[in-house]
Amino acid sequence: MEEMSMESNYLDGLMRPKSIAVIGASADSSKIGHSVLKNIIEGGYEGTIYPINPKADEILGVKCYKSLLDVPGEIDAAVVTIPAKFVLDAITEAGKKGVKGLIVITSGFAEVGNKELEQEIVDKAHEYGIRVLGPNIVGTLSNAEKLNASFAPVLPLPGKGALVSQSGALLIAIDMATFTRRVGFEKLISIGNMSDVDFADLVEWLDKDENTSSISLYIEGFKDGRKFMDVAKKVSKPVIALKSGVSAHGAAAAASHTGSLAGAAKVYGAAFQQSGIVQASDLGNLFDLSLALSLQPPMKDDNLLIITNGGGVGVLATDAAERFNLPLKFAPKDVQEELKKHMPPFGSAKNPVDLTGMAGYDWYYKSVKFSFSHDWVDGLAVLYCETAMTEPMDIAKGIKKAIDESGIKDKPVCVSFVGGEKSEKAMQWLVENGIPSYGGPDLAIHALSALREYARMKEIVSETEEKVTKVDKAAALAVIKAAREDGRDALTEIEAKEVFAAYGLPVTVTQLAKTEDEAVSMAKEVGYPIVMKIVSPEILHKSDAGGVKVNIKDEASCREAFQTITANAKAYNPDANIHGIAIQEMAPWGTEVILGSVNDSTFGPTMMFGLGGIFVEVLKDVTFRVAPVSKKSALRMIEEIRGAPILAGVRGEAPRDREVLAEIISSYANMIVDLADEISESDANPVLVYEVGKGVKIVDARIILKK
Ligand code: ADP
Ligand code: MG
Repeated sequence: MEEMSMESNYLDGLMRPKSIAVIGASADSSKIGHSVLKNIIEGGYEGTIYPINPKADEILGVKCYKSLLDVPGEIDAAVVTIPAKFVLDAITEAGKKGVKGLIVITSGFAEVGNKELEQEIVDKAHEYGIRVLGPNIVGTLSNAEKLNASFAPVLPLPGKGALVSQSGALLIAIDMATFTRRVGFEKLISIGNMSDVDFADLVEWLDKDENTSSISLYIEGFKDGRKFMDVAKKVSKPVIALKSGVSAHGAAAAASHTGSLAGAAKVYGAAFQQSGIVQASDLGNLFDLSLALSLQPPMKDDNLLIITNGGGVGVLATDAAERFNLPLKFAPKDVQEELKKHMPPFGSAKNPVDLTGMAGYDWYYKSVKFSFSHDWVDGLAVLYCETAMTEPMDIAKGIKKAIDESGIKDKPVCVSFVGGEKSEKAMQWLVENGIPSYGGPDLAIHALSALREYARMKEIVSETEEKVTKVDKAAALAVIKAAREDGRDALTEIEAKEVFAAYGLPVTVTQLAKTEDEAVSMAKEVGYPIVMKIVSPEILHKSDAGGVKVNIKDEASCREAFQTITANAKAYNPDANIHGIAIQEMAPWGTEVILGSVNDSTFGPTMMFGLGGIFVEVLKDVTFRVAPVSKKSALRMIEEIRGAPILAGVRGEAPRDREVLAEIISSYANMIVDLADEISESDANPVLVYEVGKGVKIVDARIILKK
């Protein structure tokens, strides 16, 4: 299979068949095999159609064959609509016939627990080099191929984007909604159980399909997140993802802090961002962004100009721009001066540019043409409030003419008309002429911000990863092996710090004292003040057990702390296996942050960063990256949390050493990739961050091993 998937056209037989068979075609209009055949015919398919049914000579006016093997010509694709138990035999026949792809609509496989049969079907298909879409799907629909190989009633309103959906019901609903929302799609593809062809395969194929200009995905879950990321990073067309199932409801309980914070939404969100994929917030937004990204080029820089005829929509758009991370700047003087020529004296040429309610075709035409052509402008939003004095269609024509005459093709424009039926008609006309138009100013701004975000992400995706050097994997594995031999999957703080140290992470010097006297002599060696902590695999949250004493200044306090901590631990958990007391250097005060990791079931080792203490407990102010994480990415993690100003230095505080912190995040991420087979979850909480030039110190460490 690996070899097959290397060919650029390996899904052509499936997606662009010259001939198609319907296995299970039926004269009975209540059967799916009937609907599919009818839809293929009525969709206007121009290739050859072969209905297959052992009991019919002809269905819906098309000659029927008893078996695939009776068909005289070649068959590229076959739609399978027969019951699950007959599918395996049909695949053998398809293999003998040389069919290239199967569209398996039939359900009753993995989705109802019938995983073995599903696997058998894929294995059998692969024996013959056949690719399988499905099972448990609605089918595929393509306007360019005039092919509705599905039981969705009609081909969607034509558009430029493709949409792949993991929900069949939603695909049918979207199909019909294209007509009411007036947002078309070139292709709709139902992906179902993804037994063989998955999101990554389709994205790779659609990227090369000349009829598609953007790729939208409705995702419930990936099987192999890394494979998807690898493909998505390389595609040249915009990909928009709507991920469902992001609420905390039903999320599994986790052992570590990081585990509990790393919900599916966060990790998927990080993976999308790292692969240059625009995330849609909901279904409506998926339509909106698909429209913008299939019709307009990315926005290369941050200068957004808004032209409006009404103050209200102008302010709403300004608010939206800030909300969507594209805050407005005033236009330069020369731009303002020129724009003033196309408005009455009480208009405003700043940004938003307010042409006033008197603005008709001419003012819109002139101001749009001038601004769109100006170098300062990276993206343009044209807003219009319907008035009694102006005609929406005139305005639309003025905008379109101005854009065309500017000759500019490398910056985006989005439009919003607010009004009645005339406005709706004008927007429809604009969309048909390649200009995305929306019923609300915030929607147009959201679309432009997505075009900007897309350009930003693509720059990041093209960055190269630096290699990490100097690690002692053997030392780390020795610690892990010893713990496993001891029958444990939780490392003690001391063990975890040994693993961290093997990856160059700066941990506090720590020793294990088994007796009070040992504690005293180790304390002398480390040097007062010291910190003392309980060391027990059964006590992971040491403070909760009264197991941490900081700022111990002399021998008497050291002896007393040894007794107290031991007694506290025994009271807290009488069954706890106490290894002894950790004696460690007392690190000076610094800003507390948390680093952590989870081994995500979809994306593998994933890194978390956030401010520590109350910020992580209450505000959950954390951010994620699928590992590895370059130093540059780590710096972006540090900048994107809400508490970022605290590290940048607020109110006279010296800025913190973000450079070193970023290097540490990157090394930590390298560790979890290198030890992906061993580490399930981990965290360093807290890590103390000092002033620039003074680095960071990890004072606590936790590692949970894979079972
Ligand atoms: P736990 O998280 O298991 O309760 P920690 O090792 O994080 O235990 O210790 C609790 C708190 O004590 C830390 O959040 C930190 O503020 C402080 N602390 C722990 N170790 C040190 C140290 N070596 N130097 C300075 N402060 C420390
Ligand atoms: Mg801690």
